[in-house]
Amino acid sequence: MSIPSNHDDTNASHNVETNTAASDAELCGMTHLPNGRVCLLPKGHPGGCDFRPESDIEAAIKLR
Ligand SMILES: [Zn+2]
Repeated sequence: MSIPSNHDDTNASHNVETNTAASDAELCGMTHLPNGRVCLLPKGHPGGCDFRPESDIEAAIKLR
């Protein structure tokens, strides 16, 4: 039995997604999937994202 060499990957060009909890808290929430870090800057912030460890998300949300 052979293993398929290419799995179904419809979003190959995207390696980020949005963290719902952070997004609901009016934060950017952009998640860098390779390391699981999340941008905790305000939604619509200028410039690049500042990816923080997932452990910082709850604290950032509670500070609002
Ligand atoms: Zn961001």
